[in-house]
Amino acid sequence: MSSLAERLNAIDSRITASLQANGRQAASITRIVVSKFHPSGLVRELYSLGVRDFGENRDQEASAKAAEVDDLELTWHFIGQLQSNKVKSVLEYASVIHSVDRQSLLDALIKQTGERKKQVDVFVQVNLTEDPARGGVNDSELLGFADSVAAAPGLRLLGLMAVASLDGEEERDFGKIASLSEKLQAQHPDAKYLSAGMSNDFELALAYGATHLRIGTAITGNRAY
Ligand SMILES: *Cc1c(COP(=O)(O)O)cnc(C)c1O
Repeated sequence: MSSLAERLNAIDSRITASLQANGRQAASITRIVVSKFHPSGLVRELYSLGVRDFGENRDQEASAKAAEVDDLELTWHFIGQLQSNKVKSVLEYASVIHSVDRQSLLDALIKQTGERKKQVDVFVQVNLTEDPARGGVNDSELLGFADSVAAAPGLRLLGLMAVASLDGEEERDFGKIASLSEKLQAQHPDAKYLSAGMSNDFELALAYGATHLRIGTAITGNRAY
């Protein structure tokens, strides 16, 4: 059994090697450790190893965990499907939301961020599959929806987020998201970030321009459901 520090170092070495192979700068990458289903003690341990960006996908779990480590300077990334009635709670701890994917959610975000001084960073999630249950905007509606997100004063559109379908065609999926990202940047040059890549596909995602990696099990070990 490898230790947490060894797994973290091993992943970071692979990220570094992959960036070098693609001629990219290490500073351009945000490596998020997905801590879902793990206790706050693991977050504390990872913090002591230098991790500052954490990802969670369920508000109930995330808000409790964030409260337990609120003495630490962390950035929480909300990466899961988000119900509009949870927006207020999520904004109490998360500063980046990766899963903005429909008008009702956008409306809730606009309502909750109207009075804020600091903008909330958001990604628009793209659905790369035919399955609406996976969340995400269809590519035909993507650019119009992204315009609405970019127009919201309380939000800063960082770019696109996607989860590759698990059908062995990750290369097709990452190619698609990279080309959608180019189209988006033609309209919104600052929306140049790409949240893609998980434990099993982050190297491929990096080859297609991912800037925000969401890595769970390869670092934390298996999740106890
Ligand atoms: C759980 C999760 C991850 C991390 O997945 P691993 O395979 O454990 O790396 C990444 N993105 C999202 C949206 C997730 O829900």
